[in-house]
Amino acid sequence: MSSVPSGLFRLVYYSRSQVAPGAFEPTIDSIIRKSIANNRTDGISGMLFCHDGWFLQALEGSHKAISATLARIEADHRHEAVLLLGAAQASGRLFREWDMCARTLSMVDAKVAEAIARRGAFDPGRLSLETATRLLTRLRAVRDDAQLRYVA
Ligand code: FAD
Repeated sequence: MSSVPSGLFRLVYYSRSQVAPGAFEPTIDSIIRKSIANNRTDGISGMLFCHDGWFLQALEGSHKAISATLARIEADHRHEAVLLLGAAQASGRLFREWDMCARTLSMVDAKVAEAIARRGAFDPGRLSLETATRLLTRLRAVRDDAQLRYVA
């Protein structure tokens, strides 16, 4: 991924999925493939979490790249009600590359879903920019840990 020389921004939004349950896997696959390709070119890193009909996504990169990507994402009919939890300048990247928790590591997802369910129904509207970022970084850590154990 190309580095961002200055002015690194991070934003977090959530949205409601419009993907029919039967079409979920192929649709998410196609979103992931396109996003990885675009985000690498644009120097964007981040994390997309998909749970209980919600999308929660962090994007980090230059202001210009993030704005252009968010405009495309907002116009996408595969979800609706895109709501920004916040955006702020960041001193460094928290996510190394764009990734998706839900598809690649279902066993991790089950654990994450369990932990989230213990706190009641998942409602990203109750999250702040800080708590959403913390949740996404924890998910990334759980995923990294499981990948390491899987490889070892
Ligand atoms: P193309 O892939 O050529 O698409 C052209 C148009 O067709 C776009 O309007 C696109 O939205 C629409 N389209 C393409 N495939 C489908 C389909 N199967 N069903 C309905 N409409 C379709 N993109 C990123 O670049 N980075 C991201 O991080 C990112 N995250 C996303 C997160 C979520 C939750 C969702 C729903 C989408 C995300 N996308 C992301 C995809 C984004 O919304 C655009 O579809 C994509 O960026 C368009 O890429 P493109 O300009 O190369 O156009």
